[in-house]
Amino acid sequence: MKNTKGFGTTCVHDLHDFRTTRPHQLPIYATSSFEFDSLDQGISIFQGQEQGHIYGRFGNPTIDMVAAKLGQLEAHGTGMEVFSLLTSSGMSAISTLGLALLKKGDKILTQGNLYGGTTELFTRIFGNMGVELILVNLQDIDQVRDQLSKDPHIKMVYFETPANPTMACVDMEALATLAHEYGAVAVADNTFCTPYLQQPLKFGVDYVIHSTTKFLNGHGNSVAGAIVSPHMDTMRDVVWKALKLIGTNCNAWDAWLINNGLKTLEVRMDRHCSNAMEIARFLDQHPAVERVNYTGLPGHPDHQLASRQMTQHGGMLSFELAGGLEAGKQFMNNLQLCTMAPTLGDVDTLILHPASMSHAFIPKAIRLENGITDGLIRISVGIENVGDIVADLEQSLL
Ligand SMILES: *Cc1c(COP(=O)(O)O)cnc(C)c1O
Repeated sequence: MKNTKGFGTTCVHDLHDFRTTRPHQLPIYATSSFEFDSLDQGISIFQGQEQGHIYGRFGNPTIDMVAAKLGQLEAHGTGMEVFSLLTSSGMSAISTLGLALLKKGDKILTQGNLYGGTTELFTRIFGNMGVELILVNLQDIDQVRDQLSKDPHIKMVYFETPANPTMACVDMEALATLAHEYGAVAVADNTFCTPYLQQPLKFGVDYVIHSTTKFLNGHGNSVAGAIVSPHMDTMRDVVWKALKLIGTNCNAWDAWLINNGLKTLEVRMDRHCSNAMEIARFLDQHPAVERVNYTGLPGHPDHQLASRQMTQHGGMLSFELAGGLEAGKQFMNNLQLCTMAPTLGDVDTLILHPASMSHAFIPKAIRLENGITDGLIRISVGIENVGDIVADLEQSLL
């Protein structure tokens, strides 16, 4: 290639290899903007008449293809057309959706046992902006109807199912139907299940939220989130617009890591679920264990509901040690294979003792109100050979 440019110009300008055939794997587009062939093309892409990319914050081929794949998975088998967006984290998916759809004076109806960050976001940040949070037991449909019927300012019903720490479930179809009856939207955080185990859109939910940081990526090496919805116009004109203006976009590298995780989602989830079932049964018969919270056990209060909404019971469970706080600390210190880490959904087994770790600074009364007792242990069951996980739990329980 003959080069007549100066040294500095040669440094500055990229070479483009137009000889290449198509890449087999999705490449990482590390570019903050896209070139136009002509002014006319630039104008028509800006005006939305021609498809094309403009600027990295608005999306790029890596990010868009991974978002589209996640959309296909959430809508799989439903025949629905959906619009999906990747965000910089699970929290930014929730904040972007809230900022896009809610305004001062609106209220969010939700449950007390949400992901801790979500409750704090709603109370501190949204609260300061005049968006009020109403906490009710979303399992009590009469109470939900009562709240909705007496308060027209409730514009969003927000839920997680199953939810920490007891894996309590809510009836998504009943909640979505009620929300719609009273002019609110239904939003589900589907992080624990992934679309392989549960598809909230099937039950009439309007917006599905994900922290892809967890099972969707699965390997613990990226932080990102997603919003998926069949409301095409609102997603394009309101939610995507908010995302572009707030700047909560995902980056190409994290999107690419999610894509790698998605390739094995089905086989990983099958293994997470079968391992969790076996561990739940093992713990259930262990004398040091007072109670096991896993929706796959017929004794779980929401076993029937979970069986209706989910195809399998997931990789998350918690259990109560008879010996309380001391037993909990001792159990954690005895672990050899399982890792103490404050995340979930990775391929390896992760264990958390909420009373001494994630919830140590929350007043005991409030902890207990939300089921976080001193002896409670949470497990994100990994995809190791299940015998090795059981052996580690068994030697730690002594
Ligand atoms: C982790 C998590 C979030 C927050 O996601 P980040 O990616 O950490 O921002 C939200 N909801 C649930 C259920 C989670 O587990």
